[in-house]
Formats: sequence, structure tokens, C-alpha cells
Amino acid sequence: MGDGVALARLGGLEGNAPPQHVSHRRFLSASDLASDSGDVDVAIVGGGIIGLFAALTLSRRGFSVALFEKGRLGGEQSTRCWGWCREFGRDVREQPLAAKAMRMWRDAGDAGAQRPFNESGIVYLARTDDQAERYTAYLDRYAPPSDLARALSKAELAELLPDLKEDWAFALYMPGDGRADPDLAVAHAASAAAQADARIYTHCAVHGFETKAGRVSAIVTEHGRVGCQSLIVAAGAWSSLFCRDHGVTLPLIKVISSVLATEPLAAAPRTSVFGDGFSFGRQRDGGYLVGHGGAAELPLGPDLVRFGSHFIRGLRQEWGFVKSYVRPRFSGLAASDWRDIALRWMGGIGPYERRRVLNPPLAPESMSAALERLQRAFPMFDSVRIKQRWAGVMDITPDALPVMSAVPQRAGLVIGAGFSGHGFGLAPAAGEALADLATARESDIDLTPFRLSRFFDGSRPLPGLRF
Ligand SMILES: Cc1cc2nc3c(=O)[nH]c(=O)nc-3n(C[C@H](O)[C@H](O)[C@H](O)COP(=O)(O)OP(=O)(O)OC[C@H]3O[C@@H](n4cnc5c(N)ncnc54)[C@H](O)[C@@H]3O)c2cc1C
Repeated sequence: MGDGVALARLGGLEGNAPPQHVSHRRFLSASDLASDSGDVDVAIVGGGIIGLFAALTLSRRGFSVALFEKGRLGGEQSTRCWGWCREFGRDVREQPLAAKAMRMWRDAGDAGAQRPFNESGIVYLARTDDQAERYTAYLDRYAPPSDLARALSKAELAELLPDLKEDWAFALYMPGDGRADPDLAVAHAASAAAQADARIYTHCAVHGFETKAGRVSAIVTEHGRVGCQSLIVAAGAWSSLFCRDHGVTLPLIKVISSVLATEPLAAAPRTSVFGDGFSFGRQRDGGYLVGHGGAAELPLGPDLVRFGSHFIRGLRQEWGFVKSYVRPRFSGLAASDWRDIALRWMGGIGPYERRRVLNPPLAPESMSAALERLQRAFPMFDSVRIKQRWAGVMDITPDALPVMSAVPQRAGLVIGAGFSGHGFGLAPAAGEALADLATARESDIDLTPFRLSRFFDGSRPLPGLRF
């Protein structure tokens, strides 16, 4: 693709959708597919932050790449998230990947360009001894260097967050972690990939792929087919459905979480904070993204029926956390998933075109509760005006670790999904890992914990200690 061709189709907001950063660059639209010629080395399903970083790595390494997004770039999870990027508090199996991703976030941004990552530091506050125990257990077990994570004394906490009210039992500080504005990060990755000659198609759903002699040979989209040597499935919450159509089982369930964005607030904290029933992080415009952090919805959809057995042991282990955090509901998302199954047998357009952008209803009660708790802890938020609210769907695996894996029975197929609520922060390193897998290059990170077969080879992995 020539770099002049392209303009971002990031606009077109619907109700409850997060703001989008409209890049000055253009990306190819689906109608361009017909006029583009040529097979590619690697095709990618999904234009979220994971697919975009994979496209960026591959194209910078000189491979030809085509990425297909059914709706808007980052329109599902990747621009709806909090944007937190953390090295610490991860499951230890994920730690090397998280550490590498943080190095990449810190280095990201060409000279003169707006840097997506802001090393704001993150504070975790514990109100009760039980909450404190989760943090101290982690500190005790992994003893991180103090520039990565340390407990704060009351005096240190007061100095860092002078406006914080109420008595807190414990505060954990991660000075080098921070956040990137999600819309900016998505636009940044997309522009960089396009500049490196990745072909990026929006509003172009992928229906499946073809194989030749057992190997992936082409990707089939709603607007035509493109030959490819390898295919990366980075389709977020849709990945399981996509894989299933090709006889590959990927156990994922969906969980919905709500967010609100505030208007700018003068002289408020720059540090990101996770409190008791609230979280916040400052955006580049001086407004805040506020989440609950302790409330999510579990749609009672077909995934739960299909994969429930994979999650039972993990649920039992995490029951204390899950029962206060997750609310099962037969919500709009579950109903749509069930309806898709019914419509599948009746023909017509498929689920990927029917639901271009997942835009689940938000949970207003959890947002009110988060705001109320935030205002109690930081009264300066009393007068803050709410700009927008939305919800997003996370793709969760049984051990809360992503799947980044080749699929032995489908040569050329690579899965990058199931990021379980923390794929944004991992994205730069995850994109590299997926590029490695798609081009049979040895990765500098041990990807064994992320192999798909762990769910079927008797390993039965469980979520590890994390927060
Ligand atoms: C409320 C919320 C808060 C979060 N906070 C954080 C955080 O602070 N830090 C963090 O690290 N993570 C966070 N996450 C998780 C993070 O957002 C995700 O892990 C990450 O964005 C996953 O990126 P992705 O590219 O895999 O998925 P997505 O961004 O969902 O992208 C997948 C894309 O694939 C497209 N697609 C699917 N099927 C097809 C098809 N057949 N054809 C074409 N396109 C297709 C979809 O339209 C979608 O755009 C949060 C998530 C939510 C919902």
C-alpha cells in the first residue's frame, strides 16, 4: 500500500462508545480490497491493539501483511479499556512478557510525536486487612526491586496523594508503571503499521480461511479472498467462535465491565489509583477514565455452557474474589450470542457483519457506586462532569493468561486471544510474540505458558497469584 492512500475510519461513534482519536492518516477501506493485488505472507483477523502491534512488527520485519477489521480499529476492547500498563502484579508466568512490554511502551513514540505512554505510577489502596493481604502476599513471594513496587508508609502516601481522604490499611506503589490513552495508542500503532506498509482494511469481516495440503492458504473476507502463508486470529471476544468454525476449540468466556470518562479536572492527581470499588487514570486532556474495578457482569451466554467445565477449578480457587466481583446476568450480550446461534442455521448475513462493533449496555449502578466511592476518597471529584460512559467485553481464559500459540493441527494458524482483561498493557510484546509464531522465528520470551494445548493436555492450569 502506498502511504498516501490511506485515511483512518476511526470515526462514527455510536451511543456509549468511547472517544476515538482520528488520525491524520488514512487506512484502506474494504472497497479497496478488490483493487489490491497480491497475496501476503501473513493475514490478521482483528484490528484491536493486539492485531495492530502484530501487523506493525511483521511489516517492520519486511513481511507483507494484511489486517482485516470488521468494524472500527480498536472499536471493541482496545479503545474501551482503562489503558493501564503494568509490569508488576502479574501472574509470574506472564511477568517476562509484561516486563518486555513495559520497556517497549517506554520507548514508543517517534521524536516529536505524541507519546502514547505516560509513566504516571500506579497506587493500589487497600481498605481492609483482607485486601492488603493480596498485595503483601505478592510482595512477600516475589520481592520485586523497590523501583518496581513497594509499600508506602502513611506519610509517603499523604505526600504522593495529598487530596486522599479516609483511612487506608495499606498502599502499594508501582512508580514505573502507568497508562496510555487507549484511543491514542490504537491510532499510534495503526499509523505506524500503515507507514511500514501493512495493508489495513476496516469494515471488512473475515468469514474464515482456506487450507491447501493441511496448511492455511487464504483468508476469506466478506469482500473477497487474499492468499496468505499464515493467519493470526486476534479477534478478541470473537476468537473462540472464529476458531470453532474451523474445528479448533478455544475456551473463552466473556465478561463485561463499565467505564466513564470525565471532563478535565484542574489540579487533580497524575498518579493512577486503584481503590476500594473505584479506579481512575488521567487522560491527556486532563479528564479521567473512572472504573469500578470490583464489579463486572458475566453474560449467561452459550460460551458459558460450552466452556463452563474448563472454568470450574479456577472459579473454586478464586471464589472469594469472583463472588464479590462478578454478577451473572442474562443481558443483551448473552441474548445476542444465543440469537446468533439460532440465526446461523437460518442463513443470511453472519454474526461478524451483524455486530460490527460490540457495544454492550453499561451497568449504571456500578458506575454510580464507583463515582460515589471515588468522591468519598477524593472529594475534589465532587464537582466533576461526566463526559461519556461505555462498557466493554473482555475475553477470559480459564487461567486468566492469554493464548499466544500456533495450532499444530492447522499449520500456519496462530491464535492471539484471551487476554483476560490485561492485553492492552501487554500488546507491544504480545504483537512481537505473535509475529514470531507466524513466521517460525524463535521468540525471546518463553511462550510455553500461553500454548493452546495447556487446556487439553492434562495440565489444567489455574490462575496464579496476581492483582
Ligand atoms: C473496561 C475494560 C478495561 C480494561 N482495562 C485494561 C487495562 O487497564 N489494561 C490492560 O492491559 N487491559 C485492559 N483491558 C483489556 C484490554 O482492553 C484487552 O485485553 C485488549 O484490548 C485486547 O485487545 P485485542 O486486540 O485482543 O481485542 P479487541 O480490541 O477486542 O480487538 C479485536 C478486534 O477483532 C475484530 N474482529 C473480531 N472478529 C472479526 C472478524 N471475523 N473479522 C474481522 N474483524 C474481527 C473486532 O471487531 C475487534 O475490533 C480492559 C478491557 C475492558 C473491557
